Amino acid sequence: MNNKKLLEINDLKMHFPIGKNSFVRAVDGVSFSIEPGEVLGLVGESGSGKSTIAYTFMGMYHQTSGEIVFDGEKIGSKDKVRSKCFRKNAQIVFQDPGSSLNPYQDVRQILSLPLKVHKIVPKNEIEDKILEILDMVELPSDFMYKSPNNIGGGEKQLVSIARALCCDPKFIILDEPTSSLDVSIQAKIINMLIKLHRQRKLTYMFITHDMGVMRNISTRVAIMYLGKICEIAPTEIFYSSPLHPYTNMLLSSIPVISDEEEALKPKKIASTGEIPSPVNIPKGCSFNTRCSSRMQICMQEDPKIKEISAGHFVRCHLH
Ligand code: SF4
Repeated sequence: MNNKKLLEINDLKMHFPIGKNSFVRAVDGVSFSIEPGEVLGLVGESGSGKSTIAYTFMGMYHQTSGEIVFDGEKIGSKDKVRSKCFRKNAQIVFQDPGSSLNPYQDVRQILSLPLKVHKIVPKNEIEDKILEILDMVELPSDFMYKSPNNIGGGEKQLVSIARALCCDPKFIILDEPTSSLDVSIQAKIINMLIKLHRQRKLTYMFITHDMGVMRNISTRVAIMYLGKICEIAPTEIFYSSPLHPYTNMLLSSIPVISDEEEALKPKKIASTGEIPSPVNIPKGCSFNTRCSSRMQICMQEDPKIKEISAGHFVRCHLH
């Protein structure tokens, strides 16, 4: 393993059986890596497999095949349980904070559990540590005694972020952390995540379907379609020189508020149809049912991912 990588995912497959001989190929041969301090944005429509990658990495699903290497620890398809070290260093913040926080505990109890399990501080310093973490996410100290039932959606998500920070992790997966919140609170949470990333040198995998948010937070972007990565590039290159027809379709649909921003967008590409069912993936390139540039070969051969320039990979017969 390259020592510079914090995470390496090699040919990961997560197929869910349905019936006798059918599978949902939710993740179908995905490879990528993340270096310390990076924010990798994983973008795609519902059903593209981005959250399945996150849950498989965390051990909530057991991969069909492929290898995960996190912080030097190899996790193969037969390893069902993550080590304590893994559970300390890799954290996840879910989309719906309401269902990920125990409504029968107050914030103090929620935050003290990981501090105790991972012995982050001596018992008599737990309360001080909780105050320090609440301050990091800009929640007042009296939140310690509140229950998730008595606070708003944005505040619940801040408590979820605080819980993820308790173990001083190396890596946090943010699974659509703002998509269930009011627009007014979304910007506050995104700005806080950016601040924490800079101050604490955190590494994130940020999952979203919002290309505008992605531009603000990520250092590299990967686009997923039907269980595969179709394009991955450093953020600046990704937004200035997108190559895959699906990426262009997504970028051309971002709402803008000025003529300058409109001029920077790729020309409008008609979005034809919905993402097909992962049970019935089209033959050849899986995007061929929606692609206005498709050719004969696209109906027969699934393109391989190729590096077009340093760090810019694309999976398309046009390139
Ligand atoms: Fe479109 Fe063909 Fe490229 Fe697929 S391989 S994105 S169908 S041009």
